[in-house]
Amino acid sequence: MSVKTKLSFMISFIVFLLLIVNVILNEYSTRVNIKAEVESNMTHISEQIAASVAQHTREYELLQSVFDEKLKMASAETAKRLQDSANPVTSEQLGQLASQLGVTQLSLIVPIDGEYIIKQSSDSQLSGLNMKSLGKPEQLLKQGLTNHSSEALQRLGYYFWSGPIEINTASTTMAYPGKWGFYMLNDQESIIGSYIQNNQTEGYGEINSPTSVLSQTMTNNLIILEISGFNPLLFGKEPVGEIPKMTSAQQMAEHPVSFGSYHYRQPQMDERNILAASRGQNVFRYTTVQGKDVIKSFVKVAAPVPYVIGLVLDGQPLTNKIDEQRNNQIFISAILLIIVVFCSYWLSDILIRPIRSILWKINEVSYGRFDNSIEVKRKDELGQLAQRVNAMSKNLGIYMTKLKLAFEENRSMKEYLESFINHTTDAIHVVDLSGRITQVNRAFEQLFGYTADEATGHTLPLVPEHLHMEELQMMEGLKSGKHLTARETIRVNKSGEWIAVSVTTSPIRDKHGTIHAIASITRDMTGRNKMEELLRRSEKLTTVGQLAAGVAHEIRNPLTTLRGFLQLQLETNKLNTRHVDIMLSELDRINLIVGEFLILAKPQATRFEEKDVRFILGDVISLLDSQAHLCDIEFIANFNMDSCLISCEENQLKQVFINLLKNAIEAMPDGGEIQVSIDSKGSSEVSVSIIDEGIGIPEEMISKLGDPFFTGKDSGTGLGIMVSQRIIESHHGMMEIKSKVDVGTTVTITLPLIQKPREETSEDQPNHVQ
Ligand code: ADP
Ligand code: MG
Repeated sequence: MSVKTKLSFMISFIVFLLLIVNVILNEYSTRVNIKAEVESNMTHISEQIAASVAQHTREYELLQSVFDEKLKMASAETAKRLQDSANPVTSEQLGQLASQLGVTQLSLIVPIDGEYIIKQSSDSQLSGLNMKSLGKPEQLLKQGLTNHSSEALQRLGYYFWSGPIEINTASTTMAYPGKWGFYMLNDQESIIGSYIQNNQTEGYGEINSPTSVLSQTMTNNLIILEISGFNPLLFGKEPVGEIPKMTSAQQMAEHPVSFGSYHYRQPQMDERNILAASRGQNVFRYTTVQGKDVIKSFVKVAAPVPYVIGLVLDGQPLTNKIDEQRNNQIFISAILLIIVVFCSYWLSDILIRPIRSILWKINEVSYGRFDNSIEVKRKDELGQLAQRVNAMSKNLGIYMTKLKLAFEENRSMKEYLESFINHTTDAIHVVDLSGRITQVNRAFEQLFGYTADEATGHTLPLVPEHLHMEELQMMEGLKSGKHLTARETIRVNKSGEWIAVSVTTSPIRDKHGTIHAIASITRDMTGRNKMEELLRRSEKLTTVGQLAAGVAHEIRNPLTTLRGFLQLQLETNKLNTRHVDIMLSELDRINLIVGEFLILAKPQATRFEEKDVRFILGDVISLLDSQAHLCDIEFIANFNMDSCLISCEENQLKQVFINLLKNAIEAMPDGGEIQVSIDSKGSSEVSVSIIDEGIGIPEEMISKLGDPFFTGKDSGTGLGIMVSQRIIESHHGMMEIKSKVDVGTTVTITLPLIQKPREETSEDQPNHVQ
């Protein structure tokens, strides 16, 4: 589900809940309002009915009193007539009297054996009838007879009583409501019964009786099902019986239900409600009677006697009204909900749009496209987000470009290095700390004869056995962080041959700086050594050539001496032993010079021997002495050590000293002193210094000294210093040149001393150059 749908759904759902709450509240308030309205209406109607009933009762009472008066007067007049005339009255007379006095009927009633017989009546139908046959009038008659007070009878001379206005069904002439009255004379012999039923009473029952008022009310309010007048004192205690059609205060006091009807009966509940209402609290009850929803109300009325008016209202219209209201509400809510659904969808779309463009942008970024940016129009949080995303994408783009460049550089560097490693003539191999080879290059395969597959993962016997200790020490030194310079040594190839090599070893560290492998670059020195030997020899030849003049000069002097002495002996023919001694000494000198010269010129097998530097240097000084004399130069030797034994190849070392002394001589065209000194340097080294007073070497030239063929002289070879350096290096020594123009040059050579004199020194030393 998309965010848009979710948002829209959420809004709609909230509105839906609100609408439901609204419908429920509305329904509740509608119910409460309608009930209140209905209840107030019911109370109102009840009060109206009460007013009508009260009015009716008053009219009724008035009519009763008027009727009573008429009946009393008519009866009194009849009694007077009866007393006046001696003859008994006839029914005609009574009829005349009745019409004169305005009553309907007059009868003379006499008690015979406890029964009351109508002796004479204006209504011929009644004459001779037993009162019993009339029903109610007889009861009324008997009531009066028992109730009358004799004292009042005597005082007034008569006693009159009457009944209510009622319909007497016993006689056809009394079909309308009428009123009975009875008049008893003092003698109590006879009773005059009178009955009035005139125009006034005609239709009274229909028009003025509460029944008609009630039926009118009910026609006006169709939902009123029933109206009843309850007597709270009697209801529930006496049977409901017949409900009177007309209502007087008396009837109200006498009947449990004094007017109206009582069909919707719920006796027990009604009794309780009537009792409650009679105490002044209006009661409304919502109930079902005879399968019908009704509302019953009980309202207390004070006049003419305290009674309760009960109304029964049809509950259906009320329910219908509530239902209708609810349905309307639901309908309106449904329409609102539909509108909200559409609006929220539309709104969500507006809200989501920037998020969608941000999403699009992020997708672009995820596909590696950083160029297109989001168009930002808004300044709210989403606008800011879009701006940030744009900035982020831009930065990412920049970083990506940089990364690509770096990657490309890396790749080409890697390729370059790989090609360099593979195409370099130096053999490169990497071993792990256990000595196993992990990587080799092509030159390694060519130099050692192992293929990469044969080499990788194996420990190869590359180091000759006698160098194992030394190699091990070097490795330990390397692992402990010591820096190793390139060293010349021997390696063994696959077929067991020795190769002179120069090895540079360096550690390979991981990112924590821990050494985890060792890389070695091995350069085949066989060719270079041969070349160097060649150079050395050519340099030597040059030196020999140059020395030849000096040698000739040196030899010529003793030869001249010899010649002189020999000539002297020939002339004197006498052998002077002193002269012979001189001649022998001169011959020895010639022998030494020539011997030295031969040693120098003759290529010799390299052989390291234990020699004293003082003697080597002394020999060289002797050799060059004569040449120095020619140039007006004097050697001053300062040999400050008693013994300085070193392991050396004498001839090579001599060549070094000749080269250096010759350079010194050549630097001093005007003659001077050359100091040659031997000093100890610590207990393990000896240093040889050659200090001249020559022209010196300019600063910029010093760094170039040692380069082959670098010379500052017209006839120079530029090989002397180079060859000397190589020789000193192969003797594990060091050569240092310090110089100042027009002051002089100092060349210092440091060589390791032999600590303990050993017998088999020559066997110990490996042949470095082959
Ligand atoms: P070469 O003597 O044949 O020129 P070298 O290698 O012996 O070759 O010397 C190189 C150069 O160094 C010389 O040409 C010279 O210029 C300079 N040089 C060497 N030794 C000295 C020295 N003692 N005093 C001044 N210059 C020197
Ligand atoms: Mg030289």
